[in-house]
Amino acid sequence: MNTVPKLVLFDLDGTIYVSGNLITGVKDLLQRLTDLSVSFGFMTNNSSVNPDDYFTKLSKMGLPVTPKNIVTSCEATVRMLNELNIERDLFIVGTERFKNYLAQNNYFHNETNPNAVLIGFDLELTFEKLTKAVRFLENGVPLVASHPDVCCPSSAGPIPDAGMILAALKAGSNVSPLAIAGKPYKWILDVAKEKFKITNNNEIFIAGDRLATDIMMGNKFGIKCALVLTGVSKLADVDASEHKPDYVLNSIPELLDTNLFKSL
Ligand SMILES: [Mg+2]
Repeated sequence: MNTVPKLVLFDLDGTIYVSGNLITGVKDLLQRLTDLSVSFGFMTNNSSVNPDDYFTKLSKMGLPVTPKNIVTSCEATVRMLNELNIERDLFIVGTERFKNYLAQNNYFHNETNPNAVLIGFDLELTFEKLTKAVRFLENGVPLVASHPDVCCPSSAGPIPDAGMILAALKAGSNVSPLAIAGKPYKWILDVAKEKFKITNNNEIFIAGDRLATDIMMGNKFGIKCALVLTGVSKLADVDASEHKPDYVLNSIPELLDTNLFKSL
């Protein structure tokens, strides 16, 4: 017997929109969830921009969002840093937007004596930043990251993401991250659960386009999940993967056709 979820957590890129274009039927899907009193959140690992930027972007697309509906690895990073008791000075390999968000939450970029090296989705990465980061790691400064994605897809091809920077630093220093905040790790899920006052994982449903983050997260935390085939992972990848979705959907509006919602 399936329980109707109280909260559906949607991935964004590849799930709700592709190359900035909203997937057909998303607005109707969200309206139907609202009619059924099912809450929804948008959960993204992208730490190159702020949660406010996503709020603006999704509002402009005409989606019915409030800041509460947006859950990003930026918020998860702050939660992780707080819970790990990492003090406020960090060497941040990330965008100025990421640094600004962290500063608003009392974590500051420090180039001389940081308590940790923090890796984000750094679209402003430089040789100098990598050099400083690897030297801090050599000196025993711990490493943390906003999320693990190696590449971010784009219409022009893959864009190097936080995971690629982590791999480069691992190659240079043999240091692995002490903790990672975003999907598929617990901090981003805890941010969502706190926002929506959900305590039980079986009241949540996850939908996303990546087996190695969205679906792995569902499997790891006992949360039912759907893979959508509009993004990174393809049907042929499912059999080969250790991460198993409960549902495979051609496109996200098919969620309403699953037995989770059909009987309603
Ligand atoms: Mg995605």
